[in-house]
Amino acid sequence: MILIDGKKAAAELREELRKEVVELKNKHNKVPGLTVILIGDLTPSQIYVRNKEKSAKEVGLKSEVIKYPDSVEEKVILDKIDELNKDDTVSGILVQLPLPKHIDKQKIIEAINPSKDVDGFHPMNVGSLSSGYESSVPCTPLGCYLLVKKIEPNLSGKKAVIIGRSNLNGKPMTQLLLKENCTVTITHSKTKNLKAECLEADILVAAVGIPELVKGDWVKKDAIVIDVGINKTDKGIVGDVAFDEVSKSARALTPVPGGVGPMTIACLLKNTVECFKRSQL
Ligand code: NAP
Repeated sequence: MILIDGKKAAAELREELRKEVVELKNKHNKVPGLTVILIGDLTPSQIYVRNKEKSAKEVGLKSEVIKYPDSVEEKVILDKIDELNKDDTVSGILVQLPLPKHIDKQKIIEAINPSKDVDGFHPMNVGSLSSGYESSVPCTPLGCYLLVKKIEPNLSGKKAVIIGRSNLNGKPMTQLLLKENCTVTITHSKTKNLKAECLEADILVAAVGIPELVKGDWVKKDAIVIDVGINKTDKGIVGDVAFDEVSKSARALTPVPGGVGPMTIACLLKNTVECFKRSQL
């Protein structure tokens, strides 16, 4: 069984990006810039943002974090986004989710200029992805996709099964694999006989949020299994896949932690660099 090392893949991607940023700086005399807006003092959000800032600096991006208290008015955020949309030194804007209840998440997402939407959540980018046009792709599914491609560069004709249909993970993953000519089944909480669906998969992606949902006998021999889940349990953080069981049948499997997670931030940096490159055309 191949243990898909997300930490190593993310380090390789960051190194590629670091070299690319040096080249871009030589060519354009400026570097891509990422601005993150952080609202409130939720500890996980603060940790994510700190990691994003550290990684952005590591690859040579200009990085800025703008912090607001929980009580900030929606209009203040919308005005700041408007300012950042017009700022040529900002290639990518990310508003860290979740947001306080009084702020309309969709309004915030739609306020970001799609060409600076490094999260790939703007409806225009969602539409572009499903129409097969170039766009920012949400970071976690992009990371999953890159990990699958490392194991199996030619995915044409493969059967992919995705568990979970969120806008964040399942739906964009479907589009990425369709583009690669996979035959894709997307499953969810109302799917009948999930095990039977999973047993069809050459590529199985679990993005559910239920600890160890996918058992060893749900996975075809030689399947590539990508575990997106991050679940806090009594025995620590586990994924949506029962790792010990599935590692006996799968051809390749991502661990949790150390699989998809590290790729998510690396893909945010990749999206920032891509937004910058498109803005220079
Ligand atoms: P979400 O928005 O809660 O979506 C979960 C999906 O799973 C839904 O489509 C739901 O179906 C489906 N589902 C729930 N119970 C199911 C069941 N018994 N059988 C089949 N499908 C079922 O979650 P998300 O934001 O996509 O996140 C999923 C997991 O990934 C979470 O553990 C999250 O922490 C993790 N995550 C990890 C990263 C990373 O960087 N590694 C990033 C983001 C999220 P319905 O649509 O029918 O409700």
